[in-house]
Amino acid sequence: MTDVKVTNVNWKNELSQAITEIPELFRILELPTTDWEYPPVLYEYPLFVPRSFVDKMAKGDSNDPLLLQILPRREEQVLISGFSCDPLHELSNNSSCRVLKKYAGRVLLLVSNDCGIHCRFCFRRFFPKLNKFNKSYSDKFETLLEPIRVDNTIEEVILSGGDPLLLDDSELEQLLYYIVKISHVKRIRIHSRLPVVLPNRLTPELIKILSFPFPIYLVLHMNHPNELSNDFWERREMLRVPVVLSQTVLLKGVNDDSDVLYQLFDQLVDHRIIPYYLHQLDRVHGAAHFEVPPDKGYYLMEQLRNRLPGYAIPRYVQEIPGMLSKQEIKQS
Ligand code: SF4
Repeated sequence: MTDVKVTNVNWKNELSQAITEIPELFRILELPTTDWEYPPVLYEYPLFVPRSFVDKMAKGDSNDPLLLQILPRREEQVLISGFSCDPLHELSNNSSCRVLKKYAGRVLLLVSNDCGIHCRFCFRRFFPKLNKFNKSYSDKFETLLEPIRVDNTIEEVILSGGDPLLLDDSELEQLLYYIVKISHVKRIRIHSRLPVVLPNRLTPELIKILSFPFPIYLVLHMNHPNELSNDFWERREMLRVPVVLSQTVLLKGVNDDSDVLYQLFDQLVDHRIIPYYLHQLDRVHGAAHFEVPPDKGYYLMEQLRNRLPGYAIPRYVQEIPGMLSKQEIKQS
């Protein structure tokens, strides 16, 4: 195995310099701001995008698929029937909002309340936020893990958020150590978008921590081939976790096109990342303009099946509150 040799750019500095103002974003992208009206939702869920992610956007293109994912729009204010602030009933079913037991044998730990990017379609966009960054969670780990310790039916712990890789390396290492000490836990899964949005997060230290001698599955959230930079691929090659999977949200105007999805999944399997899920949008308030009709999603899947090997085709699924597994979307 080759030694890890990556540029040590401080990812926290990158986050602290993220873009939070639309005029600055438009200036960088050489887009006119004249007819842009700030939607009031900005104050609840503001623009937040690292500069390196903006660097991947095309200048002068207001329909750039990466821009569409992060740009607050006036449409977010429109109330649409069937869309709510808690589409998966996670807030209403959990007073702590930190430990979610949705599926048999697995538990979801929300170890961070924030993310390295604010996706406008995020189904947890209305979750209460703590202070961004430099927020230590480690003092709470023992308490957080108690429900897992006392429930020996739990075999897999899924770290989610927000983004669990916003934890400091030392905090993450400590958390993994506590989890591994629970004898009935056999696997750990980490769901993150940070290595895609900010490849510098995959520091040599983090890569070493993820090489922990325990089955650790890393599930990376990525939606468009333009998100995948050489920086990301270089670091992916250094990851030694047993399996890297991907999940993608099907988004109107971003990736609802068989060529785009083909390019994404084809590149992923070339780099030993298995496409795991293609998610139907969770119907969160403010995201209706991203929704793709399931029939179209199914049609796109049919087209992909004609072009890619079976292991490169993700499962096209939808989460339905109360169901014990994600539901495969079939032709209506
Ligand atoms: S990275 Fe994931 S959790 Fe964070 S805002 Fe985007 S969709 Fe939501």
